[in-house]
Amino acid sequence: MLLNIQNIYKNYGKEPMIVPVLKDVSLEVVQGDYIAIMGPSGSGKTTLMNIIGCLDRASLGTYLFEDEDISEMNDDALSDLRLNKIGFVFQNFNLLSSETAQENVALPLIYAGIDKEKRNQRAIDVLNKVGLQDRISFKPSQLSGGQKQRVAIARAIINNPKILLADEPTGALDQASGKQVMELFKSLNDEGVTIIMITHDANVASHAKKILHIIDGEIIENKQGGVL
Ligand code: ADP
Ligand code: MG
Repeated sequence: MLLNIQNIYKNYGKEPMIVPVLKDVSLEVVQGDYIAIMGPSGSGKTTLMNIIGCLDRASLGTYLFEDEDISEMNDDALSDLRLNKIGFVFQNFNLLSSETAQENVALPLIYAGIDKEKRNQRAIDVLNKVGLQDRISFKPSQLSGGQKQRVAIARAIINNPKILLADEPTGALDQASGKQVMELFKSLNDEGVTIIMITHDANVASHAKKILHIIDGEIIENKQGGVL
């Protein structure tokens, strides 16, 4: 199993103002899964995603990433795990505005210590893959929203991560660009990339193989979702 999350709780705040946000959440993810997590605003989706992405830790419960207990990893080990094994895509792209598409995409390879020639080639390959081979030297301000998100996806997959995590990846996009992003996710998943995507949009969620609903911090339903 890739991810094994059992009976996770997450509280924010301190006594006497503890706010319980996630309650007894369990989630098992195998290689090749494509899971959508749906739920209303404030239901705990981003909180759960941050825990899955090892950006935050649960207050209680166990989380095994490839059979390794992340509660036993220190912050450095956790940041290595994030860098090498997890790709992140956010609603607002999080691109560096002063850098070109190619430079943005190559960034994770700088952290990984890959030399410049390899970085550049790999960045071109991955921009090709997301259909942006003719936008390599463009800066974010010269790209449409959908193109920016595809640059962000290229950056997220350049390290061949074990899992791609996307928090409202179509939230800032018009319908046509959102559809393109969903088509890209589908083809990445067909190639074997494991994906967990958060969305409040049922249309977007319907592209996943499995849909989980989170309401008020609890997963209330686990049904096989619509396929394209
Ligand atoms: P969603 O992504 O589903 O909209 P979030 O996970 O962002 O929901 O938030 C769930 C709940 O947790 C909300 O009530 C929010 O106010 C609260 N929350 C989120 N982050 C924090 C934080 N850092 N400190 C305190 N409360 C938080
Ligand atoms: Mg959120």
